[in-house]
Formats: sequence, structure tokens, C-alpha cells
Amino acid sequence: MSASSIRTVAFVTLPLILLGGYLMAAPSADETAQTAAGSATTASADQPTAPADAKLEKATFGAGCFWCIEAVFEQLKGVKSVESGYSGGRSANPTYEAICTGATGHAEVIQITYDPAVITYPELLEVFWKVHDPTTLNRQGPDTGTQYRSVVFYHDDQQRQLAEKYKAKLDAAGAYPDPIVTEIAKFEAFYPAEDYHQDYFAKNPGNAYCRINTQPKLDKLKQAFADKLKGAADAKPTDAPSAEAKTKAASAAGAGAKVDWKNVDWKKRLTPEQYRVTRTAGTEAPFRNEFFNNHADGTYTCVCCGVELFSSEGKYDSGCGWPSFYQALDDKRIRQIEDRSHGMVRTEIRCANCDAHLGHIFDDGPEPTGVRYCMNSASMKFKDAKTGEEIEGGQK
Ligand SMILES: [Zn+2]
Repeated sequence: MSASSIRTVAFVTLPLILLGGYLMAAPSADETAQTAAGSATTASADQPTAPADAKLEKATFGAGCFWCIEAVFEQLKGVKSVESGYSGGRSANPTYEAICTGATGHAEVIQITYDPAVITYPELLEVFWKVHDPTTLNRQGPDTGTQYRSVVFYHDDQQRQLAEKYKAKLDAAGAYPDPIVTEIAKFEAFYPAEDYHQDYFAKNPGNAYCRINTQPKLDKLKQAFADKLKGAADAKPTDAPSAEAKTKAASAAGAGAKVDWKNVDWKKRLTPEQYRVTRTAGTEAPFRNEFFNNHADGTYTCVCCGVELFSSEGKYDSGCGWPSFYQALDDKRIRQIEDRSHGMVRTEIRCANCDAHLGHIFDDGPEPTGVRYCMNSASMKFKDAKTGEEIEGGQK
């Protein structure tokens, strides 16, 4: 698989239990003892606190695509560097092409160099188990093969014990609907991946795979581990967003033109069908709309204001006759409202920018999100990635 190919493994929604305080609990007495014993080798006997030149330690994890996982761990305080590479295989110095066959036995891994005085191994384990699905054997999403296996390569016996204990704890707590299949194996060797794989997300933020898969992982990390992120100490949670952040949000929302969306003459701007659907919360006919069976690559925007809502990569064939997506480009662009009309309780979705009615969201979607954004074609405009052609729904 080449770097430019778009891998469609998607972010895995983890059980809410992982968000709870359970995992943030202080290490148990014996864990603390082990940690103290482990760092005793680097601290002098009469100086129990970690010295300024504390020895850095290494952690090696495999959790599917290393592009995404690398970007996640690089955000953490105490993490000095993260390198993408290969571990656990039979040959020395494997190439990406060789490991992609799955025949060499290597896993795509990241090797983390961290300061244990700032971030502990159990904390790294916590992030590791949170940002991927450890219950699918040799698979992350549709990326299949032993190279995508979930694995902790321990560097010493203390890491092995901590990983085994943590895994058992998660299983015992029923943190996942299925048993954890993460392999816990002795670290033998790490082979750095080719240069173009390093810092892939930072170098390729526009890459469709990363936009869909890495950004949600980072967003999740920011939500769940805010206090552990680099720069967290400087951030003041009560501060208003910076001017830069505001500008970014505005351009992301397509609101650069400063339109007052409440006072637009929608009847003039839209076709009657687009108006009926988006401005009066109407529903178009199934199967007789522009995009329900559109399989072209491209982006779906709000027909009213132009905000990018979905990519063709998040689209699937639900059979319901309306365009269906399991994943939005950014959930913040879509507002959810309880809808009790027609004697049903449903969740309506609207454009967060211009308040256009889009459709409804259901929880019967496919893995990995389990949701279905059931859209009206009349609420969207499709930009074909190949031809550049733009097609508006709601013409039929
Ligand atoms: Zn809109």
C-alpha cells in the first residue's frame, strides 16, 4: 500500500466507560512500588525525587496505522519523541512494502521516548488503549493483516507486568463489548520506517485518510486528556478563543463572508424543493433524489451556506433511499435536536452554521461509528473530486 493511498480504517468509538474516572485512578500501591523500584536505578539513593537529567525511557506500541498513532502521542507532555517503524517480525530492516504483505511478521508500531517523571507508563497505556480498538484480531477497521495487530512490546519486566495488569483490569471492568486481543510481547528490535512515514500527519494535514481518521483521534485525546497535553499548563480554560482560533473556526465553517444567515432571502436563493427541505424541515422522496446512489469521490457541502459536511469516504449504501453517511467531516458542524414530530422520537440534524435542516441521525449505522446520518440530497451540494463538477441536490 502506498503512502498516497487512502486507507479507510476509521476512528473507533470507544465505550464511554473509558471516559470515566476509572482509568484515571491513582496507581495501586504495588504499581507505585514498582515505579519507584524502576526509577531507583536512575535516582541516587539519598535523592528520591527524579533528578533534572532523569533518564528517558521507551515504550513501543502497535495500534494499526502508525500515521495516526504517532500524531496522538506527540501531543502528550513528557513525550520527547515518537518514531514510526516496525517491530516484532522475523527479518532485519524490513521495508514498508515488505511489511504490508503481512509475511514478515512485523507490526506497524510507534516507539515513544518519554520522561517517566512527567508521564508514567500506565498513563501511556491508558492513551494507547483508548485511541484504537483492541478487540479486533489483526485488524483496525478494514485494514487487515498481522501488521495492524494491537500489541504492546514491553522493554522490561515492569512494563510487562503493568501492561498485563492494565489489560486484565480493562477486561474485568467490561470496558469493551468484546475481549481485548492486544498481544503483550517482549521487545526485540525496532526498525524506523522510511522518512516519508515520519510525522506523516503533520506533513500531510490535507490527506483525506488523516483528515478522516487522525483528526478525530486527536479531538478525542483533547477531550479526554486535556491536562496531559503539551502546553496545557499555559492554557487558561476561561479565556475566550484567540483571534486566530476564531478566524480558523470561521473559515472552517465557510463563514468568511460574514453573512447574517438569519436574514437571507432563502426563497430567492434556493429551488422550491431545497427551500421546502432545508427551511421548513421537509423530507424528500427516497430513491428519487440526486445522491442516494452517488458513488463518486468528492465532498458534500451544505446547499445553503457551503460548509463542508461530509466526504464520500464517510458515505455508505444503507438501502434506505437517502444519502447515508457513517461519519461527518466534523461533528461540530452538525447540530442535533430532538424531533418529536410524526409521532416519533428522532434526532434531527441541522447545519450548525446556517440552521438548514439536513435530515436525521440514527444509531443503526455500520462500524466503526455505528451511526447513520440520513441526509436529504436537497440539503447538499456535491463537489466531484475528479471532475471538479458541482451538483446541487433538490433539482428533482
Ligand atoms: Zn449551512
